[in-house]
Amino acid sequence: MASVILQNVKKVYEDGFVAVHGINLEVKDKEFVVLVGPSGCGKSTTLRMIAGLEDITEGTIRIDERVVNDVAPKDRDIAMVFQNYALYPHMTVYDNMAFGLTLRKFPKKEVDARVREAAAILGLDNYLDKKPKVLSGGQRQRVAVGRAIVRKPKVFLFDEPLSNLDAKLRVQMRMEISKLHRNLGATMIYVTHDQTEAMTMGERIVLMKDGVVQQIDTPLKIYDRPVNKFTAGFIGTPAMNFLDGRIIGRKSVGFKETGDGLSFTVPAAMQKLLNPFSGKNMTMGVRPENIYLKSRSAGIKRPLTLRANVEAVEPMGNETYLYFSTRKDGSQHVARVRSSEGFAVGKPVNLLFDLEKAHFFDSVTEMAVLQTGTKR
Ligand code: ATP
Repeated sequence: MASVILQNVKKVYEDGFVAVHGINLEVKDKEFVVLVGPSGCGKSTTLRMIAGLEDITEGTIRIDERVVNDVAPKDRDIAMVFQNYALYPHMTVYDNMAFGLTLRKFPKKEVDARVREAAAILGLDNYLDKKPKVLSGGQRQRVAVGRAIVRKPKVFLFDEPLSNLDAKLRVQMRMEISKLHRNLGATMIYVTHDQTEAMTMGERIVLMKDGVVQQIDTPLKIYDRPVNKFTAGFIGTPAMNFLDGRIIGRKSVGFKETGDGLSFTVPAAMQKLLNPFSGKNMTMGVRPENIYLKSRSAGIKRPLTLRANVEAVEPMGNETYLYFSTRKDGSQHVARVRSSEGFAVGKPVNLLFDLEKAHFFDSVTEMAVLQTGTKR
């Protein structure tokens, strides 16, 4: 296995569009790194540059210490798994998996051993003589993964491999790929637009937007300590609530929501940090799970109590998403609460914000100036 190092890697397409603005990333040997971000953020371009399917405009890519900028894809010792499995329909599962090795003139015995080993790992033993058309979506994707495994590459690259599968199968394949990573001890780079996949599979997440890396961190660090408003809003479902306002006061620092909104003194632990920003416009971020029904607020040290109007209720079974606004013309927010008891659409409800878990972002730069929520 191998490390993958990107130094100032930039991609400008022929039409002059800058898809990736100088990315720096070090994927360690045996690491599972997920590139995630909204459509068009440059994650596939980055993966394709690592694979050699796309030229790089500037910078250096190293795989296992070797600079591969000008090395052909087939000589990079990588294997890629795509969203569309690209299986040969007229070949059996066995032949689909064996094809790459046969092409490289591997001895028949070696090919057979590798195909059977991969089939066993992926639970495809009983399907080796079947054609792709009789397989389910999940099985086809497994064959595509098998085709990568038999190559015993230095690095596995996955480009949205689960996007064509239904929700249940996606969850299952997610776990299978994570297990595969543990069993093979392989270096894997995985591209997805799905933040749940990123959170559950990645040892580290690279979050991108508009061709620029926003944050590289472990899933929980990204969740607990987002470096900017974009990261804070992208990771987490439902998304973090944002309230625009201003830091006020000097001796006792507070936050005042724009318009006729909330106004409160910030908790003692944040006083010193927010003091230099007095008078500045800020956005406060509160995760939906840090908003409670007043009746279930036991244990919150520094709550902000407010009366809100319930606008929509989405029961999930184990919890309920409660959409509310705090004033008539105000924006809608969401709380994750424990049950649907005691509230109804159109009725007022008493809520508590756990202010110790609040985040604050500079309204102009959108950078986080204070991050809490590390107490889990
Ligand atoms: P998606 O999830 O939609 O695939 P992505 O984050 O993987 O998005 P890329 O495919 O890397 O995005 O594309 C990044 C940007 O580069 C997009 O704005 C896209 O339109 C642009 N782009 C991609 N290929 C080309 C090309 N050949 N020429 C010009 N622009 C391109």
